[in-house]
Amino acid sequence: MEDIKKLSLEQLSEVVVGYKEKKFRAKQIYEWIWKKNVNSYDEMTNIPKLLKDRLAKRYNFNSIKIDSFKKSKDQTIKYVFKLHELSSDVDELKNNKKTEKNLFVEGVLIPSKSRVTACISTQVGCALKCKFCATGSMGFLRNLSAGEIYEQVALLNKESLSYFDRKLTNVVVMGMGEPLNNYKNTIDALDKVMSKNGLSMSPSRITLSTAGVSDKIKQLADDNTKFNLAVSLHSANDTVRNSLMPINKSNPLKRLTSALKYYNKKTGNRIIFEYLMLDGINDNINDAHELAEFCKSFPVKINLIEYNSTKNGNFKKSNRDSLGRFVNLLKSKNIIINIRKSKGSDIDAACGQLVNEAIKTNN
Ligand code: SF4
Repeated sequence: MEDIKKLSLEQLSEVVVGYKEKKFRAKQIYEWIWKKNVNSYDEMTNIPKLLKDRLAKRYNFNSIKIDSFKKSKDQTIKYVFKLHELSSDVDELKNNKKTEKNLFVEGVLIPSKSRVTACISTQVGCALKCKFCATGSMGFLRNLSAGEIYEQVALLNKESLSYFDRKLTNVVVMGMGEPLNNYKNTIDALDKVMSKNGLSMSPSRITLSTAGVSDKIKQLADDNTKFNLAVSLHSANDTVRNSLMPINKSNPLKRLTSALKYYNKKTGNRIIFEYLMLDGINDNINDAHELAEFCKSFPVKINLIEYNSTKNGNFKKSNRDSLGRFVNLLKSKNIIINIRKSKGSDIDAACGQLVNEAIKTNN
């Protein structure tokens, strides 16, 4: 049995025409799956029964499900999604134990006055092992499929309607995993989020965040992607960044600068930098000077983020004085800054806190 959600519209059209049905049926089915987000053939009320029966013999629906959720006192909701596939990789990682296992990832729904934002995951775990990040401490288990990434958005859209009486307004790809290390599936999923046959969301409402995979940043420019790009920077000094983010050893700041210049030249997009304020690590006035210097190469906006301690964290958030001095220096250089308040930190849903028991055994 194959997963119908892995078929593109073109592939679905070929299947439908192969059954001697009219081509427009493929578009109808595609919209049921991706726009109306149904999970069975029974719900496709305008599709002939014979066609549904034929499809059902060959294609099933593999859908992710909400396993559990926790609500913060600030209304942020953290979800644990159960994935449908059992992974053979996991058996290998867990010493070839032959029991069946499900994998889990997390997503977050973040309401504010003017928006409801979904934060979604692209990998189970992450190989990049950033020192301040709970996900990094899990290691990497596997990439999510395009369907699994898209379905998080679709499910969170339904949840948003039910809890906040509003559709999602924004999507940030900032959950578990490095999206550019799962490039094709992430781009395919975001294409569906933006597509008229999907959620019709404007690219200006979508932000993908990377730890700085330079080659893939160039590829985003070459592929003419329209959504926003954020880079988890956290330091503009190679020694400090190496100590925080091991990826900086293979993608040092010089290489990142060249990729971002290329990206900005081709797309015209402003770069968003995410900068976690870590006490005594990257928050002194010299760090601010280095950051201001780094920002001279392209138009930027900086999100300064309050650090949230994780269970295995060794960092503390910056104190008010350090934050004030840092902000004043950047402002004096006319750099656009946004100080991001933590949301959902009481339920471990804030930046860098997404981690779960990614594998559960079915007994
Ligand atoms: S911050 Fe992002 S890239 Fe770094 S370990 Fe965490 S999930 Fe991976």
